[in-house]
Amino acid sequence: MIEVRDLTKTYGSERAVDDISFVVQPGEVLGFLGPNGAGKSTTMKIITCYLPPTAGTVLVDGLDVRRDTLAIRQRLGYLPEHTPLYLDMVVYDYLAFMAAMRGLPASEHRRRIGEMAELCGLQGVLGKRIDTLSKGYRQRVGLAQAMIHNPPILILDEPTTGLDPNQIVEIRELIKAIGREKTVILSTHILPEVQASCDRVLIINKGKLVADGTPDDLQASFSGGQRIRLGVQNGHAASVAEVLENWGPVQIVESQQDGDSGTLFTLRADTKDDLRPHLFRLAVEQGWTLTELHRDQANLEDVFRQLTAG
Ligand code: ADP
Ligand code: MG
Repeated sequence: MIEVRDLTKTYGSERAVDDISFVVQPGEVLGFLGPNGAGKSTTMKIITCYLPPTAGTVLVDGLDVRRDTLAIRQRLGYLPEHTPLYLDMVVYDYLAFMAAMRGLPASEHRRRIGEMAELCGLQGVLGKRIDTLSKGYRQRVGLAQAMIHNPPILILDEPTTGLDPNQIVEIRELIKAIGREKTVILSTHILPEVQASCDRVLIINKGKLVADGTPDDLQASFSGGQRIRLGVQNGHAASVAEVLENWGPVQIVESQQDGDSGTLFTLRADTKDDLRPHLFRLAVEQGWTLTELHRDQANLEDVFRQLTAG
């Protein structure tokens, strides 16, 4: 649906985007992560035809951003970083205005605004002036205007920045609902959000792509494997350590007393495979009484920090 190929953008001598390539499949929800200044907004502005590339190409639905800007914009809904709203307009009038701008016939405005109001939870505020709305509601109006012409692709630049935790959950649910039907690229700083709503994640740092994969893949590949906590009841600790050392796939990172009843081992393994069933069977064979068996993975925040810090 979107193909970014060897894309570079310079502002004067600064390379804001430095030779990045990626493809977004139809129906995919792609999370675009990176620290401030990484080049996320610049990339989105090029995909949406607001800025021309310095080098490289972007194809949207097979169309070239250098040539087919109008046709591309008809297929896109864009929510920029700073939601552009006419604050002195009433929500309904603003959405009708945007519908007209996007070429919807006047006879369809009422129906379409009704659909957007339902999807974005705007039913109670259609008659209110935008400057009287909270930030969360303004963001919903921004989403509604981005989708009013029913585009198959949505580009959302930090749609939840500045919202409170309840509003973040609401917008996240909304994006999930939208993502079932549309291709979405979403930039954000909020990592749990990516985990909750994205099929795939790109991490960009200083204009370069540093990671591309599903949230689970990224966590598995950058955690250096997995950590497992294994609790065993007293009476076996010395032999447990010996058996584990000789077992193969795990190393003992530490062992500590778990209250007075047992020992808690922290194990490391350099594999993505789930070792818990194997450990369970090992415990049964050896006659150990398990008190705990838990697998930890590095979270996306660890991955993000590892790839973009310093
Ligand atoms: P992000 O959205 O990831 O925070 P941006 O794409 O906004 O990053 O910015 C990438 C880099 O390009 C930053 O160093 C920023 O200062 C610079 N930049 C962005 N827009 C402009 C502009 N219009 N003129 C000059 N430099 C810019
Ligand atoms: Mg930005």
